[in-house]
Amino acid sequence: MTLKGLIRRIELRLLDRNVANRCMVFALLSLPMCLILWGLQAYALANPEAGAFYRPGALSLAQLGLTALILWLTTVVVLAWRLRRHGGDSKWLAQWTVMPTFVVFLLLAIAHGLKDTPMGMVLIQELVVARALFSLRKLRPTLILVVVMLVASDLLITGGQLPYAPLLTAPVFNGDDLAGWWAVWLRVMFQAAVLPFTAMLFFAFNTLRRQRKELESLVRTDVLTGLSNRREFMSQLEIESHRHARSGRPFCLVVCDLDHFKEVNDSWGHPAGDAVLAQLGRILQSSTRHQVDTAARLGGEEFVLLLPDTDLDGARRVASKIADSLRGHVFRVDGASFSVTQSMGIAEVHGGQGERALRIADQNLYSAKRAGRDQTMVSVVA
Ligand code: GH3
Ligand code: MG
Ligand code: MG
Repeated sequence: MTLKGLIRRIELRLLDRNVANRCMVFALLSLPMCLILWGLQAYALANPEAGAFYRPGALSLAQLGLTALILWLTTVVVLAWRLRRHGGDSKWLAQWTVMPTFVVFLLLAIAHGLKDTPMGMVLIQELVVARALFSLRKLRPTLILVVVMLVASDLLITGGQLPYAPLLTAPVFNGDDLAGWWAVWLRVMFQAAVLPFTAMLFFAFNTLRRQRKELESLVRTDVLTGLSNRREFMSQLEIESHRHARSGRPFCLVVCDLDHFKEVNDSWGHPAGDAVLAQLGRILQSSTRHQVDTAARLGGEEFVLLLPDTDLDGARRVASKIADSLRGHVFRVDGASFSVTQSMGIAEVHGGQGERALRIADQNLYSAKRAGRDQTMVSVVA
């Protein structure tokens, strides 16, 4: 799988609405940090030289809490996997995943000293992951608890009831050179917090940018045909009107409307009608200049072409090519076949009067309808 494919798969997991899936992602993202800290503490427990930096007994307690969290997060992964597979209510799971993680991480952060260790960074990383995955409403109880615990620990430390960094025999930074153990510990914890955090921010901004692009293209595009929609067409019409008013060159508008389209829907069904609209969209696209002309669906079965720097003769040629392609296309439904025609109105625009020309092209279209359909009427708007 390519890197792009992998990123897309992770993205889909993160954007998944399924709460169980999100809990699983949260647990899987939190576990590496737990395991790194667990490994460091296990080393300190086994090695008296490193163990001397911790208060006797407190380190075992910290390791016990961390072990419990690791076991719980592993259970969450299994539970979430099953809930995700077999369905079921997993609303409670989000609270029971996030809250214990924050309680343990926050206690460990306070125990190590929040102000002179990368534990604050670890907490921020967890907060960002949690917020990316869960709504503020789901996180509220946990956030309130985190703030209360932080304020309480600060008050206790300031009041002298709780030593700063109660897990340690002395704070990591005491004014002297860093002890060898802390030099290693700080580097490991700092990198473990900063690298994934940076990767996550890059990932989040990448996702945001892609989603913004998708949304931008969605508001400009007609879903059924993939052509521009009315909004995009009107803004292009304004731009081209100004440009052509300056250059003094003409441009053309071609308005198309399918003939007796209601009968197509009535006789062959709405999906067949949609197929006709999509086919006309493809014909309009392939008959016009890429990135120069604008082909748009104005609504229903009415389409329009904006042909910059084109005179009436040029527009007439395009219109007749489109009419021939549509007339020659055979649509098939349940073994039967039918074809459709369209009427067109063309206006050659001078002096940049785009909106007036659109009205006149529309009037030409209705003249073509009145004259018997399957034909094109033209005029020049000076
Ligand atoms: P005329 O030749 O005078 O244009 O007749 P017409 O039947 O084509 O025109 P009319 O305005 O009476 O009917 C337009 C029909 O287009 C009615 C509507 O159901 C159908 N229509 C509009 N939008 C869609 C769509 O997105 N899909 C389908 N299948 N039909 C649509
Ligand atoms: Mg019609
Ligand atoms: Mg119509």
